[in-house]
Amino acid sequence: MPYFTGLKAYKMNKIENESIVVKQIEKAVGFKLSKCYTCGKCSAGCPAASFMTLKPHQIIRYLQLGFVEEIKREKSPWLCVSCETCTTRCPQGVDLAKVMDTLRNIFSDVEIPQITKVKIANNLFLENIKNYGRQYEFGLALNFNIKSKQFLKDISLGPKLFFKGKLSPLPHKNENLAKIQRIFQRVSEIRKGEGI
Ligand code: SF4
Ligand code: SF4
Repeated sequence: MPYFTGLKAYKMNKIENESIVVKQIEKAVGFKLSKCYTCGKCSAGCPAASFMTLKPHQIIRYLQLGFVEEIKREKSPWLCVSCETCTTRCPQGVDLAKVMDTLRNIFSDVEIPQITKVKIANNLFLENIKNYGRQYEFGLALNFNIKSKQFLKDISLGPKLFFKGKLSPLPHKNENLAKIQRIFQRVSEIRKGEGI
């Protein structure tokens, strides 16, 4: 195969694959990303924007242009704290917080060295909600330190929080645990259906 034909095929393949991912994101969030006109109001109010290399409005712009590969290893979605300020401020009704959440799901298996700890914390947080219907802070801190190999991190805070009644060594279950677990089950079914 001549070199240029191969290169063209590679480029076409990349563009096609990227447009599939963008369509997947649009299906998951329920709106067209083209709604955004890059005014930047979302980034201006985002409390995590100063830590992000690509600001929230830039993430949407990259997706509009189909730059999925560039977003894939981007740490910004993992630094988003889901505060929904961007969503509230957007004059176009773009739910950017949902876009960030969808990106985290789609690229959850991609290794990004700078945010390994963020991913560990994110997974443990969700696991606790799924298992107990509420947060289990002691388990979260303990498992986080073990999985992130920082065994003594913040250990001096433990006794202080315990004696103030802020840290229970045992988990407490939410009385509506079954309902909460059904939500997790439903979300997982929806995501499977959407190929996320
Ligand atoms: S505020 Fe809305 S329209 Fe403006 S850049 Fe952000 S997402 Fe786009
Ligand atoms: S939801 Fe995420 S992206 Fe939006 S303002 Fe909050 S931290 Fe920033």
